[in-house]
Amino acid sequence: MSDVLLSVRGLHVRFLLPRGRIVSAVTDASFYVRAGECLVLVGESGCGKSVLASALLGLLPGNAQTAGSAVLDGAGAPGLGTPGHALPGHGSPGHALPGHGSPAHDLPGLDLLAADERTLARRVRGRLVGLVPQSPAAHLTPVRTVRSQLEETVAELRGPRRRHLPQGPQGSQGSQRSQEARGLRRGRAALRSAAADAAERAAFPASHLDRYPHELSGGLAQRAATALALAGDAPLLLADEPTTGLDRDLVDRTVDELRRHVDAEPADGSGRRGMLMITHDLAAASRVADRVAVMYAGRIVEICDAADFFGARGPRHPYSRGLLDALPDRAFTPIPGLPPELSDLPPGCAFAPRCGRATDACGTVPAVMAVPPKATTRPEPPADPTLVACHHPVEQPEESAAPAARTDRAADEGGGEGEGEGGGEGSQGDEGHDTPQTGPGPDPGVPARPEPSKPAEPTHA
Ligand code: SF4
Repeated sequence: MSDVLLSVRGLHVRFLLPRGRIVSAVTDASFYVRAGECLVLVGESGCGKSVLASALLGLLPGNAQTAGSAVLDGAGAPGLGTPGHALPGHGSPGHALPGHGSPAHDLPGLDLLAADERTLARRVRGRLVGLVPQSPAAHLTPVRTVRSQLEETVAELRGPRRRHLPQGPQGSQGSQRSQEARGLRRGRAALRSAAADAAERAAFPASHLDRYPHELSGGLAQRAATALALAGDAPLLLADEPTTGLDRDLVDRTVDELRRHVDAEPADGSGRRGMLMITHDLAAASRVADRVAVMYAGRIVEICDAADFFGARGPRHPYSRGLLDALPDRAFTPIPGLPPELSDLPPGCAFAPRCGRATDACGTVPAVMAVPPKATTRPEPPADPTLVACHHPVEQPEESAAPAARTDRAADEGGGEGEGEGGGEGSQGDEGHDTPQTGPGPDPGVPARPEPSKPAEPTHA
């Protein structure tokens, strides 16, 4: 049985603007997320990351067009899945990466891009995909307490009230009323307990449950939003810039809490969860990622094992290298120039104007190629080849040093209710062109957390 929770193939998103302008926000994106895995999608702001997230949840504005497929495996909806579709005049539907097996519509499950709004609202959002939002202040209802919002979300997603309503043959009218009253009391207690449980899993302090959003610090508001995302026990978490505007300590705590959720074995035996995290914060990515996908100008240009990406080997794509070299604890050298406008992409490789390795060959868009892993002394070599879209990828050394990804979280796990004061809410969107957020880089002296055993390579990218 496949352990792939989400399989995205050939995803395109474009926006139709007045006077015939077209913004190609996402172009031919393909990746998957496994159970028990965190895939982190990184890239400069404005590269299309958040548009991709919105596409997966059906939250794009009306002037957006999508193509390709995004199949939730194990969605339990055979027959709802449909083949990936194509943009008008935009090539074939749901096409595969070179050498990467069958198309997505061979999988059972639900194609998020083809699902209607009713299906997305009733079956997907919160239940199959939990969204940790970019801006918790905008996500939380300002006039209701956190407890009230959590209880309502749990009731909507899990319906404990209905499960506790009286069943079976009815007696007299008085006895029926008393049964109903007992059922409602049990329902309310179950709801309260489930909401408190969701808060606890997000490390939101129980003593703050009766506070309003404006009474919370930025860090606690983020935890409240995370608790709402966890309330439905969705198998897949989609965290869209969950650390924007937080200070470094809160960034670490937030991503550690999300990681714990992915690592936890659900008590009901329903299988481990997976997470797609979108961020421009490489320090946060290094702390939580199993694999790293790099996006530039709407395209995914590399997907790489996190230990290789942040370790001695490093990534293969020149842009990925540039992102790392911009970190202050590395070369502290920004990538020259600015990313192109998504409405005015150059022909060929979009990174060429900023790339020191560009040649005439780069006048054509490079295909995504699988690079098999080299011999390594790592105890658990990556199961997946690096995928890179570049005519002249950077060579890696044969041997890797100790993996540097996933800095040790144990020392600062947990968090008290007073945490987060001063962690204000940021409003940095995905529109501007800033450089990646920097911060303390990975500690190469700290070995990576032991990874779960990885299954055989899936049949698709
Ligand atoms: S394809 Fe050419 S321009 Fe683009 S990243 Fe690779 S070397 Fe640089």
